[in-house]
Amino acid sequence: MSAPVCPILIDGQWRVLLEGNGTPVYNPSTGEVIAECPAGSPVLVDEAVQAAAKAYPGWRDTPPIERARLFFRYRQLVEQNFERLCATICREHGKTLSEARGSLQRGLENIEYACGIPTLLMGDTLANVARGVDCETLHQPLGVCVGITPFNFPAMVPLWMFPLALACGNTFVLKPSEKVPLTAVALIELLVEAGLPRGVLNLIHGGRSSVDALLTHPEVRAISFVGSTPVARHVYETGTRHGKRVQANGGAKNYLVIMPDADVARTVENLATAAFGCAGERCMAGSTALTVGSAAEELMPTLIAAARAIKVGPTDRATQPDMGPVISAQHRDRVAGLVASGEQDGAKVVCDGRSVRVETAPGGFYLGATVVDHVRPEMTLAREEVFGPVLNVMRMEHLDQAIELANRSAFGNGAAIFTNSGRAAREFKHRIKAGMVGINVGVPATMAMFPFSGWDESFFGDLHIQGREGVQFYTRQKVVSTRWLGGDAADVWRK
Ligand code: NAD
Repeated sequence: MSAPVCPILIDGQWRVLLEGNGTPVYNPSTGEVIAECPAGSPVLVDEAVQAAAKAYPGWRDTPPIERARLFFRYRQLVEQNFERLCATICREHGKTLSEARGSLQRGLENIEYACGIPTLLMGDTLANVARGVDCETLHQPLGVCVGITPFNFPAMVPLWMFPLALACGNTFVLKPSEKVPLTAVALIELLVEAGLPRGVLNLIHGGRSSVDALLTHPEVRAISFVGSTPVARHVYETGTRHGKRVQANGGAKNYLVIMPDADVARTVENLATAAFGCAGERCMAGSTALTVGSAAEELMPTLIAAARAIKVGPTDRATQPDMGPVISAQHRDRVAGLVASGEQDGAKVVCDGRSVRVETAPGGFYLGATVVDHVRPEMTLAREEVFGPVLNVMRMEHLDQAIELANRSAFGNGAAIFTNSGRAAREFKHRIKAGMVGINVGVPATMAMFPFSGWDESFFGDLHIQGREGVQFYTRQKVVSTRWLGGDAADVWRK
């Protein structure tokens, strides 16, 4: 393979491993191989973790305000290099330019949140909890933390993790997805430029063998994971069995309920963004529309027209498609296969993106926007996470039926309702089984100051990523009770 090999960063040294046994990194828009991601190994994992462990005492003892300054500088560098980073995201992932910009902006907000660390780490005090005894809480870092990230947000998801973990005083090992390692390299280069001390963050690559070595390494204290549910479960079970704190975000199947009183044009706009944005490759994708009562009659023609109008194409600067490719040829075929299974099970494909051809980029991994109507709950298409530009439609008689159906899902990431009825919205908000809920908001993904709050098989752990829960995850509390013995207050001054 002659493509450039992605470097790793261990103990402040960038290294290029030349074993040649890595995996190809594709430009999904063209199908070309643009880089090679080196395989990981337990030996490299150990080197990276040891470097982070060695750097920990110095970084832990660096005042929070100085740690915050690293992130103020980093924020500025990410902003200055914003368009270059977006171009890398587009190139290795296939997002459209506006999607890349939106996702990097979300990442940047996590850096901004980390800049507030001196305030976020402040503890509580209560004087005189008993006579002469004062009590205070300290929020202390954990040690070496690990981040393992998926392909679908090459910048945003790593930025959910390492800025806050480092700002809290931990050191870090990042293992990005082997499908999109170039953005992670570019992000870490900027962190080094901002003044990252040696060993405080280390970057390694690879797949399962790297992950398993990280999950079981005795020096690792905490693991943040984002990816599919089977791997999230494996990471949670293995990590906790080895005594680590784990937050593991998994897959999803998100329901969008449309009430008969919903504004059709605005709702369709939202549904199209939720279902087809990022080519459906996001854990907050609205993948199933549950139309209530007469809602479907008016909605469906507008929805089908909107889906048909979505322009698919390569995500370079010259073209501005509405939707880019999916991540790989294999994934495209899996999504197409799931749509075919729905068809065989009796659903009706009313807008079929499987045959889309992009003449300017015949090697790209494209699928057009697809709408499948009359899907039933028992179908594989209805139960499995599709992770592609496919919107299933299921027709419900009333809101109760829609909520009951959505609540039977194994997942619990996001859900949304479209309505003008406060009563229906309130009912939905309280009864729906999902950690992130939208009311006339199709993608209720939370911003940096709120937890990314998945439930059930969409999340394994207790403390979510982002916001105050993120700070709690990356720290542990110490409660100090103080009493000074001997004499009374007046003695202090006399002696
Ligand atoms: P994935 O589970 O295949 O990979 C995620 C990470 O785990 C990668 O770094 C990969 O190298 C590693 N990995 C893969 N297989 C492994 C194994 N068998 N053992 C140990 N490590 C392994 O996920 P993906 O395909 O990269 O990402 C898509 C998935 O991520 C979707 O299911 C999506 O819903 C989910 N996701 C969830 C959230 C969330 O916040 N809930 C956000 C983004 C993506």
